[in-house]
Amino acid sequence: MTGWTERSAVLACREALARLSRVDPRAHEAVDKALLRESHVRARETLCTDEHCCRPAVASHVLARSVTLGPLTENGHLVMPRAKNGRIDYPRVGWKRASTFPGFCSHHEQMFHVFESAGSLSTPLHHQLQMFRSATRERWRIERSLSDFQAIETLRMEQIDGLDVSDDEREQLKNALEGPLSALRSMADIQWSYMVHVRNDLRAAINAGRVSKGLLAFSDRVEPNVALSGNTVLTVNGRASPLVFVTMPNAGQRLFLIATLEEEHHWLDGYRRRFASTAETRTDLIRAFQMATDHWFARISWWDSQSHEARSQLSAGLLAI
Ligand SMILES: [Zn+2]
Repeated sequence: MTGWTERSAVLACREALARLSRVDPRAHEAVDKALLRESHVRARETLCTDEHCCRPAVASHVLARSVTLGPLTENGHLVMPRAKNGRIDYPRVGWKRASTFPGFCSHHEQMFHVFESAGSLSTPLHHQLQMFRSATRERWRIERSLSDFQAIETLRMEQIDGLDVSDDEREQLKNALEGPLSALRSMADIQWSYMVHVRNDLRAAINAGRVSKGLLAFSDRVEPNVALSGNTVLTVNGRASPLVFVTMPNAGQRLFLIATLEEEHHWLDGYRRRFASTAETRTDLIRAFQMATDHWFARISWWDSQSHEARSQLSAGLLAI
């Protein structure tokens, strides 16, 4: 579900960076290290995402550790995709550290204990809390991408300015990077604003003790192998609409959660009819979700049983600069 425009911008960006590394390999590595350092500093400085809170954020689990990741864990580990230098690999990760982000302070993190202590997500309130947490994580992820794009642009332009090349080549190197970076920034801006609104709708429903019209939940009894949380943009009747999605093990079943804006709820029924009707369509849906986010975790034995082709298909859907 990654859009074609986004895919081509990522590829163009990668190409521009590869060209730059050929012209200037040593500075290229130094800039990569500087970008990494900067992202570590940002992670340490993150505050709680509650608008009225100034406490530092702790590492929050997007997908509850014991309820969601525990049932998929084998020998304390899960498989997850990792994007590095434009390539995807699938390392094993310890389940205690999987699926964390600096989202909430220890006080606001308490609001999710209601289903963590119950041992399952069994009410619409639990579903909404999960989607609120997922939308918060997606907003954080998009903000991180936006500052990454900013840092890439600043540091790369400085690098290009310092190169011993002709003015023509300098101009070409700059243009090759500026165009796709600006396209990626515009797309991220739109997604960021979608996540803000989906999150606001969910919070309003949670605070009022009602169920959001933009929430869809269904489950089946097939053994779960994957847990994930992400977002994408759907085009329904020519109109773009945000979609936050989660699938996870829940009390031995596969639980599917979808959230959109309340005002966009009109497509949810059709979506349910299309994807929730059989075990096969639900499994296809998980695969589509896996291609739309790199934030997924799978049972090791299931991953090992997947064909080479199935794995390559998933990797082709995931792209990183
Ligand atoms: Zn807080």
